[in-house]
Amino acid sequence: MKTVRAYGFTSRWRIGTVLLWLVLACLLPGILGVAILFAREYLNGRAQLERDMIATARAMVQAVDSQLLKARTVGEVLSTSSVLARRDLAGFHRRAREVVAVTKVGMNVVLSDEGGQQLVNTLREFGEPLPRHGNPEILRRVLATGQSVISEVYIGGVLHKPVVSIDLPVILDGKVAYVLSIGLVPDDFNAILAAQRFPPGWVSAIFDNTGTIAARTHAPDEFVGRKGTLEYIQRIGEALEGSMKTVTREGIPTLSVWSRSSVTGWSVGIGIPREILERDLMHTMTWLSLGLATLLVIGLGLAWMAGRKIAASVRALTAPAVALGKGQLVPVPEVSIQESAELAAAIGQAGELLAARTAALLAANRELAQLAQVDALTGLQNRKSANERLRLEFLRLQRSSNPYAVLFMDIDFFKEINDTYGHETGDQVLRHMATVLTASLRQTDFVARYGGEEFLAILSETNAEGALTIAEIVRSSVAQQAFPGARQVTLSIGVAMALGEDKDEESAVRRADTALYRAKEDGRNAVRSC
Ligand code: GH3
Ligand code: MG
Ligand code: MG
Repeated sequence: MKTVRAYGFTSRWRIGTVLLWLVLACLLPGILGVAILFAREYLNGRAQLERDMIATARAMVQAVDSQLLKARTVGEVLSTSSVLARRDLAGFHRRAREVVAVTKVGMNVVLSDEGGQQLVNTLREFGEPLPRHGNPEILRRVLATGQSVISEVYIGGVLHKPVVSIDLPVILDGKVAYVLSIGLVPDDFNAILAAQRFPPGWVSAIFDNTGTIAARTHAPDEFVGRKGTLEYIQRIGEALEGSMKTVTREGIPTLSVWSRSSVTGWSVGIGIPREILERDLMHTMTWLSLGLATLLVIGLGLAWMAGRKIAASVRALTAPAVALGKGQLVPVPEVSIQESAELAAAIGQAGELLAARTAALLAANRELAQLAQVDALTGLQNRKSANERLRLEFLRLQRSSNPYAVLFMDIDFFKEINDTYGHETGDQVLRHMATVLTASLRQTDFVARYGGEEFLAILSETNAEGALTIAEIVRSSVAQQAFPGARQVTLSIGVAMALGEDKDEESAVRRADTALYRAKEDGRNAVRSC
């Protein structure tokens, strides 16, 4: 396609590029906003999740505390029972079994003497041989302080399973006579874990005041009775509640929270595997990115299509504009953009107007050219045109030796006509003279008004004899004509032949003028030649 010269700026933007930038400028802040909102929402959600988990851990610790304290209360009631005051051990055995059955607190009740020998154990019939107290350290502390002690998790002497005991002094006659122990097993705490209905994968555990695991949602058989991780034990020592990124005993990376009881020192930990958290995050991020990318692609695609459409509509105007400039027929292009269509229609109209104007201008030019050659009064050719024709005939004569004659004609006593009948009648006579001259000359002859009442005829390819004959015909035609004012008008005619040796075209005219002068001298209404 022919390139059209462009004006103005040297660096230009394509419509498509402008639209692409526009779409980017509109979409990018939105995309950025969505990303920021998402990040805020995610962080808020994370913080809220941690708060909720801590609240849950706190509630669980309270449940653990209540379990332990309930057991201690039961122990306190039993330790002050009248059967013990009477040192009726068989009666205490019965009583303790009743209390365990009714309150459902704890697994068993054990009564040991100061030396650590079990005297009563509700898991055994009264009188059966019994082992020593399973935790001599606790026993020593109770005896030393005379206060109740909640044990850490240890392996029980009868069941050989992890157990927790609440040990209380039985004071008779002002001194510690026995140590009463209420035994609790992991099952007693499992209900607290189960009640939370944690999602699968979440790990939760109940720890005693030394950080030993008392109950656990996952692999309790493996981990109950063992210490929690060092990191966990360290962190719960630093604060009552909190959260951390850590790794569970079995090596699962988690986001974990804990809550520790200020009363019993027991704690609850809840851990969400980080893989679950990140999987959810990745899932949401993937969909979000896909959604935003799709939005961007659709936006850019639409901009590209719109750009092509607009550019095509604008480019389609190039050919009409060029055609308009050349004054050719303006083609009407098919465009899909309304404004372009309007512009195309306007260019089309401009083309039509221009064509009409050009036609009018050409006609006016033709008329002007004609006017420049024609005498306004008579409609004959004027002097300028006569000189051009003389020049043309002279050149032709020199080239082809074709003879031509010049007739110089002057109306006789024209002044008189003017003076007698007025200038207007004089004009009418001149106009009538023109028609008489045209009618009496041949079609190939040329006749012009050369001056006021002087006429010049050029007779092509005519010899002297022929010229005189024609001059005579003209003279007699005029003389026989009735002119305006029913007056007779006569004409004197000087005839001259153009000669090959003439220097210029004026020579023949001068000779004709001389001949005319002679005709006037000879009385007028006459033809003379030279
Ligand atoms: P002759 O030629 O026979 O010697 O006498 P004449 O009266 O014709 O004398 P001359 O040629 O000197 O006079 C020409 C007159 O023609 C003078 C002028 O007033 C008149 N004339 C020239 N042009 C026009 C014109 O356009 N209209 C009218 N009405 N008169 C014109
Ligand atoms: Mg004259
Ligand atoms: Mg005259």
